[in-house]
Amino acid sequence: MTVLPLVFDAPKRGLPPRHLADLTVAERAEAVVALGEKAFRAKQLSNHYFSRLTVDPAEMTDIPAASRERLVADLMPPLLTEVRALAADAGATRKTLWRAHDGTLLESVLMRYPDRATLCISSQAGCGMACPFCATGQGGLDRNLSTAEIVDQVRSAAAVMRDGAMPGGPGRLSNIVFMGMGEPLANYKRVVAAVRRITDPVPGGLGIGQRSVTVSTVGLAPAIRRLADERMQVRLAVSLHTPDDELRDTLVPVNERWSVDEVLSAARYYADTSGRRVSIEYALIRDINDQPWRAELLARRLRQHLGQLVHVNVIPLNPTPGSKWDASPKPVEREFVRLVNAGGVACTVRDTRGQEIAAACGQLAAEG
Ligand code: SAH
Repeated sequence: MTVLPLVFDAPKRGLPPRHLADLTVAERAEAVVALGEKAFRAKQLSNHYFSRLTVDPAEMTDIPAASRERLVADLMPPLLTEVRALAADAGATRKTLWRAHDGTLLESVLMRYPDRATLCISSQAGCGMACPFCATGQGGLDRNLSTAEIVDQVRSAAAVMRDGAMPGGPGRLSNIVFMGMGEPLANYKRVVAAVRRITDPVPGGLGIGQRSVTVSTVGLAPAIRRLADERMQVRLAVSLHTPDDELRDTLVPVNERWSVDEVLSAARYYADTSGRRVSIEYALIRDINDQPWRAELLARRLRQHLGQLVHVNVIPLNPTPGSKWDASPKPVEREFVRLVNAGGVACTVRDTRGQEIAAACGQLAAEG
């Protein structure tokens, strides 16, 4: 077995200073008192950040100027600066490139649909998982994002929706998917804390329903089980991409550590514990993983492990620059989906957004 690089405990290098959104409600009160301020100022700050979605001290007029300056300087250091925002799909898709305090670049993508608005967020800058078809995977891991850096992507998109800055008028950010840059379960503690901040009721958190948050993973089996034991209601998505270990070892190199069987049995544990169907992500690649026999094997293995507690999302491959791979032709894709469904497993094709601005699945590479 190949020894994988040690990416699960990446150093704290580059993490930003502590921020309100890193802290629980109790920790916020403690931090405020430690600054010589009254505890109730913590609630005022939380209200500005999580409910009014502002980080601008000029808007915090319920806090006296001197206290405000001290509190904001200590608890709301600037985290993410917008470098550029690009629109696609007639404005319904918006990709934002962010620069962190240390120059690190990361991206998030907001997608508006008739009935919902979904934000695709990054949990790491870069990624250490090295999946060969993914743009982020080619650059390696830059660093973990802090809890607040993850949460702030959401706060900012929630403000964009509220303010009607997307076509369609004011609306509500309803769904969050950890499908941007990075492997969320390789930044476990910060990601779980971020999910809590995103889903705790206002003004402790941003008040988005746990059931509307999806954590997507390459399949770090022990971390999937640990996530199940958090007893949250978030949806789990597993990037399987093929049902056999031989090919998966090359498409998702971490498979050499945790095999398809181990990943699917961890997914079963998650489904049983949460009572929620698990999503299986399958990037369909021409002549690589799109054969009829693989569709049949996929259905068989998923039925074996997960019964009805599973849904397959086929993602047409977005070829990354210089990639030798391509998406499967539509008739091949249709046949693949038909065979998985015929094998007793629900399977649909994911609609792709933001192709022309490099905002589609697996294209986030933050080149600057
Ligand atoms: N590390 C997490 C989140 C990554 S992105 C994970 O692997 O699940 C979310 C999904 O996009 C994953 O299923 C990933 O495999 C897929 N993806 C990456 N590159 C892609 C590409 N070029 N075309 C289509 N899907 C891609």
